[in-house]
Amino acid sequence: MSLLAIDIGGTKFTMALFERGEMVRRESRATDREGGREWMVERIREIGLDWAERAPFTAIGVGFGGPVDYAAQQVVLSTHVGGWDGFDLPGFLREAFQAPVLMDNDANVGALGEGLHGAGLDQRPLFYMTLSTGIGGGILTENGVLRGADSYAGELGHINIRPGGPECLCGSNGCFERMCCGLWLEQDHGRPAHELLTDPVFVERYVIDLARGLKAVIMLLNPARIVIGGGISKAGDALFIPLRAELRRQITSWSRARIDVVPAALGDDSVLWGAYELARQAQGDSQ
Ligand SMILES: [Zn+2]
Repeated sequence: MSLLAIDIGGTKFTMALFERGEMVRRESRATDREGGREWMVERIREIGLDWAERAPFTAIGVGFGGPVDYAAQQVVLSTHVGGWDGFDLPGFLREAFQAPVLMDNDANVGALGEGLHGAGLDQRPLFYMTLSTGIGGGILTENGVLRGADSYAGELGHINIRPGGPECLCGSNGCFERMCCGLWLEQDHGRPAHELLTDPVFVERYVIDLARGLKAVIMLLNPARIVIGGGISKAGDALFIPLRAELRRQITSWSRARIDVVPAALGDDSVLWGAYELARQAQGDSQ
């Protein structure tokens, strides 16, 4: 039994092969923005066909870096790479590899990964947030991923935390993603995020905006734990200790909701482990 997991992000895609619950192969490639969607799906097919020669896939799970209509199993769009609007990615993969496919938004898939294999074990409701090129959120309850009526639950990146702030790619102003994600940090401050986050003066200001977004999550959901994944979460204690302190400062005075915010335990593989879980579900559906 071999399951294929695919993580399609803003700047790269990663594929992993799982056998008997273990990740046995993993390959990551930088995104070719020029080539867009066609370039990427062709690479995925090449690598997959090479792997499938040894053992055909029994099922496939996909985490996609952009909004996904889960019920229709279709990509809505990618804000980072062209050509994805309405693309039937599961259909393409089903035909290429002759196996059942399930796809979801990468933050929902990351929530599954961290909730079942990482820092969110037995923590429900769990809120998982990716903090990298963009910002995405996923909610995992005792009954699985909470997707909402139209697959848009957890889309925290575009709540406005600084009204009148700088314009976001979505057309609004001062969005959480606009103020806190890696792409904009580098553009606004002229240094990459990982470098900025070693500067305590910068971090002190940065956690104010970060805590504003996370306060909304705590007030709305009262999560047992918040797990943050993505490149920026690798800053570790230098970020998380001031972030927790700032959240304690911002949280409403009478709230006794816990402030439990930790980095992802699976590093770059939260989405791959979640996609592995989706593949297991797809396999169940096909039987
Ligand atoms: Zn926005």
